[in-house]
Amino acid sequence: MKNIITFRLDDITPGLRKENFKRFEAIFDTFDIKPLIGVVPQNEDPKLMVEPANEGFWDDILRLQEKGWIIAMHGYRHVYSNECEGILKANPFSEFAGIGYEEQSDMISRGKEIMASHGIKPTFFMAPGHTFDENTLRALTANGIYNVTDGYALVPYTRDRINFYPCTLSDPKVKRGIDTVCMHPNNWSDDDFSDLESFIRKNRSLCMSFGDMISEVKPVEYDDAIAKQEERHRRNKAEKQKLSQNDKMQDYLKKSYSENKILKFFKRCFYLPMLLKK
Ligand SMILES: [Zn+2]
Repeated sequence: MKNIITFRLDDITPGLRKENFKRFEAIFDTFDIKPLIGVVPQNEDPKLMVEPANEGFWDDILRLQEKGWIIAMHGYRHVYSNECEGILKANPFSEFAGIGYEEQSDMISRGKEIMASHGIKPTFFMAPGHTFDENTLRALTANGIYNVTDGYALVPYTRDRINFYPCTLSDPKVKRGIDTVCMHPNNWSDDDFSDLESFIRKNRSLCMSFGDMISEVKPVEYDDAIAKQEERHRRNKAEKQKLSQNDKMQDYLKKSYSENKILKFFKRCFYLPMLLKK
């Protein structure tokens, strides 16, 4: 199985942290990588207004679209209206899942219109909180959007006429299969940026522009094998979440950590009795 890593930037709004967004662009330019970006058509989420609105926002997005960056519609207002988990059960909150078809279709069509009025044609949907349901998918195809940046499988797949491009990573990491690293520019620190830069430098051959990945990789049909991959990912995620809430485990992981992989292995073994102690 081929390993490919692509990148996506979430929460792109006129009020985002401009300096950070520019730093991403500079890094991606250095390595000639073009990411997918999720633009909120009509942001009403105060958490995404970290700076005064950028007057030239839509011109910037248009410029990036012309440069080959892929533009996704990141919800409509980015306001969570309920506690539905949606199809992926990624989070217990949603802007879309749990809402009737007509209303969802209306939100998507209005979002598309706003973006079109600025010359932007979103070909992807990026659900806020990764939450969407069957009505969202029907509403997307009714509005001519056939790609979703989400899914837990090892490869992109097609289900109900929609292509799902897996996105399970929140930090740059090498992983089996085809995956997307989901990054939120508003929250990034200097260390995050230098980690990203050194990650790409070290793994440049695995990192690909989002547009190149979608033209190179044909999604497979959704079947039992894909369903099993997604279920496995969900179980692992739940397991990790449980462990992260366990103090003894956290203590063990901290004490036995090392940058050096071999040393880390020995430290993990050495400190193992710590976990068994009552
Ligand atoms: Zn978001």
